[in-house]
Amino acid sequence: MYVDVLGADGGKHSGSSLVAMKVGPSLLIDAGSAASLRDDEQRAIEAVLLTHAHLDHILELGFVADAAASLRDAPLRVLGSHAALQAVRTHYMNDLVWPDFSRIRTTHGPAIVYETIEDRVWMDLPGGLSAMPVPVNHGAGARGFLLRSPGGRAAIYTGDTGPSTEIWERARELPDIAMIIAEVSFPDSMTDLAIASDHLTPGLLERELRALDRPGAPIYAFHLKPWYRQEIDRDLSRRLGDRAVLLMRGDRLEF
Ligand SMILES: [Zn+2]
Ligand SMILES: [Zn+2]
Repeated sequence: MYVDVLGADGGKHSGSSLVAMKVGPSLLIDAGSAASLRDDEQRAIEAVLLTHAHLDHILELGFVADAAASLRDAPLRVLGSHAALQAVRTHYMNDLVWPDFSRIRTTHGPAIVYETIEDRVWMDLPGGLSAMPVPVNHGAGARGFLLRSPGGRAAIYTGDTGPSTEIWERARELPDIAMIIAEVSFPDSMTDLAIASDHLTPGLLERELRALDRPGAPIYAFHLKPWYRQEIDRDLSRRLGDRAVLLMRGDRLEF
């Protein structure tokens, strides 16, 4: 299974793109910057799985829904925790800020359907992927995901989170962790702000990884605040060496 990074940044800045990952041809995880997809790619997207409802993760969901209404011959599924979907429906696609696409009828039914995900249960997703949502320490209904590819390899996707226990404990039960895609928003010098805003620094991530105890698994860091990229990069190299790589738009990961 491949993961195409459409956006990996935790802030808007010249040249940066907000978080969105395309997992195989038919699933998006988050939609911060997904509107750059070509029509044929857009048509193939069957579902958008949201980590949470903060704007940097849903910014272009409205445009993905708009494109789906025109291009697709089946509803686009929008999946997330109850709280995340509630926030999207109440504050974004509410017929004020943007149309409520779940009420817009196409020849094939509603343009989008909302589906609440169930915590701590493996669910089937397009492309033979399965995912287990795990509550993490962040607002807006945030979940991280344990992912399993059709080939049986696993990946951890933290979503936005501060220091958190459960996702690492559950990940320890996975037999074969191919990679860890982890948020690292701030440098070590801003640890207080990271903790106050429920995010990680390289130092905090290093501590989280001790709870996982899989020293071989490669780390792909994302959601960096672009203004601190160099400092975060230095901190990460110092703490995790070659094991950690910064993700950028255009990267492709496999697992
Ligand atoms: Zn967030
Ligand atoms: Zn975010």
